[in-house]
Amino acid sequence: MKVPLVDLKLQYLSIKPEVDREIKRILDQSAFILGSDIEKFEKKFAKFCGAKYAIGVSSGTRALELALRALDIGKGDEVITTAHTFLATAAAIAHAGAKPVFVDIDSETLNIDERKIEKAVTKKAKAIIPVHLYGNPAKMDEITKIARKHGLNVIEDASQAHGAIYKGKKVGIFGQIGCFSLFPAKNLGAYGDAGILVTSSKGLYQRLNLLRNHGRSGKNKHTLIGYTARLDNLQAAILNIKLSKLNAWNRKRREHAKMYKEFLSDAKEVSFPKETEKSRPVYCYFVIKCSERNKLMKFLKKKGIGASIHYPQPVHLQPAFNFLGYEKGSFPEAERAVKEVLSLPMYPELKKGQIKYVTDQIKKFFWQSQK
Ligand SMILES: *Cc1c(COP(=O)(O)O)cnc(C)c1O
Repeated sequence: MKVPLVDLKLQYLSIKPEVDREIKRILDQSAFILGSDIEKFEKKFAKFCGAKYAIGVSSGTRALELALRALDIGKGDEVITTAHTFLATAAAIAHAGAKPVFVDIDSETLNIDERKIEKAVTKKAKAIIPVHLYGNPAKMDEITKIARKHGLNVIEDASQAHGAIYKGKKVGIFGQIGCFSLFPAKNLGAYGDAGILVTSSKGLYQRLNLLRNHGRSGKNKHTLIGYTARLDNLQAAILNIKLSKLNAWNRKRREHAKMYKEFLSDAKEVSFPKETEKSRPVYCYFVIKCSERNKLMKFLKKKGIGASIHYPQPVHLQPAFNFLGYEKGSFPEAERAVKEVLSLPMYPELKKGQIKYVTDQIKKFFWQSQK
């Protein structure tokens, strides 16, 4: 049996007639930049999140950078984030000209450890970027409380958490701005690079609109120096179809996660990032923790199972951030987690039989290694 990590083709096939029709329509209209499909998608996505406004942009990384710029955060400023995330969270801080300041993770949730944030706050700190890693909401109550106390902005990196719920509300609306990647393999993915921001501040919305479109406030009037960072109209038309399926797809992901956990309940070598009682994760990735991770991954690959690691290196030890001067041992929990985490196949179209096969192989591996 073959079980890939993700299968984007299956999802396309499930919506092919609608998608093909929409692509043809956009090509026939030849309206590629800005326009009604983007506006429709932004309105729908804002409503989906419970925010007043949404702004479609060219990627998740760009969304984060523009969020910082809209809040006037840049040179000389510090932005606090987690040491265990996709590199882009920290890269966006650097792109904006600010300095990333990392904080270790909570070993139970693998999200930023809110108890360690205050120690990282200096006079230069301007914002916190919590990441809802793997689709599991960070502790936003605690984080926004710390932010208020120190006068910091909160920008959520919800790139892996479209539709995840924290205390009854969708993530993305707990701080000033929420940022989402719409990379093909995320819970809501375009057919190429794309991203979106949500906010309920009219001022920030207006600034973000200028920033993504050359700072343009009139046909030939540029009120600030902006970017070519718009969401494509073609992508917006596709995303409109996919957004209407997102709740159902996320429900499937949660069902799969439940099944994985049930089937693995007798494998004492395996544990899972914790779901807190306030949260309903959406499992962008299904991640297990175990020792002998590398050997297990190799074993699963031999069995036709697409296991992968998100992420094998904490951000503070990536060569790109050498200049910040962090050393090994700076964040022990993040450094431990990267040795233990393993992502198993996860996508809405996954079948029960495939999940059974994957979990049987995992148990077989640990059973064999005991002998
Ligand atoms: C995917 C991702 C990003 C970057 O998004 P792009 O659209 O690839 O630029 C940022 N942060 C996290 C946590 C992500 O998973």
